[in-house]
Amino acid sequence: MDVALCTLDNYTYTSAQFAQLPFADMSEKRRSLVCPECSGPAFFRRQTRNGRAACFGARPHQPNCSLSVLDETRVIHGQGEIAEVIYNPGERIVVDLNFGAQQHIHAEPHLGPVRGGGRAGIHIGDNAANNARMHRRLSTLLRKLIESPDFRASQQILEVLGNEIQVRDFFVPLLEIQPHHLNSLKGFWGMLSDVGADQNGTIWLNSGGRRNISFFIDDDSFTQVCARYNINEEEDFAGAYILVIGEAKLAQSGKVYCAIQDPNMVCLRLA
Ligand SMILES: [Zn+2]
Repeated sequence: MDVALCTLDNYTYTSAQFAQLPFADMSEKRRSLVCPECSGPAFFRRQTRNGRAACFGARPHQPNCSLSVLDETRVIHGQGEIAEVIYNPGERIVVDLNFGAQQHIHAEPHLGPVRGGGRAGIHIGDNAANNARMHRRLSTLLRKLIESPDFRASQQILEVLGNEIQVRDFFVPLLEIQPHHLNSLKGFWGMLSDVGADQNGTIWLNSGGRRNISFFIDDDSFTQVCARYNINEEEDFAGAYILVIGEAKLAQSGKVYCAIQDPNMVCLRLA
């Protein structure tokens, strides 16, 4: 996508024009970009050190948006993942927060407490006795959220950190957060606009402008996340999909934010 509309100044920029903006201006405006044709949320990524040109992308475009065919970042590569059916309402999904753990792709009958669950606090209720369950990592869940409207709307039961909740009630798109989503454990997912540090040096992962959620992450966790995804520059976050398990809060300023408490509570899918 060569052009994007900034909703702050209502101007349609080419990626070359946008790349020339002063830093502060760009930092502000890149959080308020949309596709000029379909108004899908858009991102800007500066030229990267490894030679990728500056570009715009939108995630997602509306179906039939003619600009989507020009959006080279729209393709989500399977990366050789095992094809699987996750939308199976008869099965429970146990969220596996132990990054790097072996993923069980078979459903299994409930025979007792799950061994080696990794994180403390995962409790499996006994009322699941007759249900098959499957363990899923965040990366798999994020992929299904991106690709499958059926999954997003699913009433399938999720077990996460001792909670049992329907899929459709647990996962919340970043741009659709409402007051009733605050202060309880949710899976927030969607596209990041950019990453940056504030004047105190705190790192924020932004999903858009001031009205949209931002995530903060401590330096240690940020380093771990960057290492996990081979990220060596902040531009790699622009347009990346993220899934964070956490509680969103409302700051006195009116800003919605969420702390990433643990690197295992976040996963990314890079643009
Ligand atoms: Zn579009």
